[in-house]
Amino acid sequence: MKTGTLYIIATPIGNIKDITYRAIKILKKIDFILAENCFNTLKILKKFKIKKKMISFHEHNEKKKLSSIILKLKNNYKIALISNAGTPLINDPGFNLVKKCHKKKIKVVPIPGACAAITALCSSGISSNKFLYVGFLPLKKKKCIKTLKKLSIQKFTLIIYESKYRIINNLKRISKIFEKNRKITIARELTKYWENIYQTKVGNLIKIIKKKKIIFKGEFVIIIEKYKKKLKSFFKFKKISKKKKIILKILKKKLSCSKAAYIASKIFLKKKKFFYKYFMKLKK
Ligand code: SAM
Repeated sequence: MKTGTLYIIATPIGNIKDITYRAIKILKKIDFILAENCFNTLKILKKFKIKKKMISFHEHNEKKKLSSIILKLKNNYKIALISNAGTPLINDPGFNLVKKCHKKKIKVVPIPGACAAITALCSSGISSNKFLYVGFLPLKKKKCIKTLKKLSIQKFTLIIYESKYRIINNLKRISKIFEKNRKITIARELTKYWENIYQTKVGNLIKIIKKKKIIFKGEFVIIIEKYKKKLKSFFKFKKISKKKKIILKILKKKLSCSKAAYIASKIFLKKKKFFYKYFMKLKK
């Protein structure tokens, strides 16, 4: 029997004109829409004079509705998944559904379009070659700080989603944890009337908050320049197992740093320089 298709349709993140021609074409031909926010989707449908049945589909009912949707797809239905704004599944519901479609060999067709992360990244003035999409930071203070500390040594441009409720606190945390000279871009209300893409250095964040240089209302994406320094040696040395450390200690006792490093490099097939630095650190 012929199976249906699930269309993953990206919608605008602010400016309705950012809908794609293909998205409208597909919306006209599908059987019904799974909408994260029926109210917002209705606005798009009205604008483009499309009449289509909508079914509410959000993070709280995704799992419950899964089997009935899969059944419909197996019965040759053509269904569109639309999130509140932007690309579905990017910090939005749909992952379980797409996963299940692959398992059941149901065709999944992406209809690309707006995504806040990529829109912010390409306008940030910060390297866009290698990046790490973080999404939202953890809500709990302790976990958030721990996450930021880990992120602060990543050698990738960071993309963080933020809401008006937490942006100030999280920028303050970033200013404490990240190096002062790292570039940071705060992209606010992208594609909307109040769009503002503001680049500065981490060291200026507190001044910017105090002087209210940015209006902290609306939706935000934070882009942070990658960690540039070489990883501190203790991070590298942390990875040496206990057994290896015992062997290295014995070598160090009997030999000079240089000789011990040479032998260790032959035993563990790693550069002599690595062990030399390790032995020098032990000396301190
Ligand atoms: N699926 C969406 C996408 O493709 O970007 C993201 C959904 S996520 C629930 C919502 C977050 O995306 C917001 O809190 C904000 O961080 C970011 N965002 C969405 N629209 C935005 C906009 N117009 N300007 C800046 N950030 C935006």
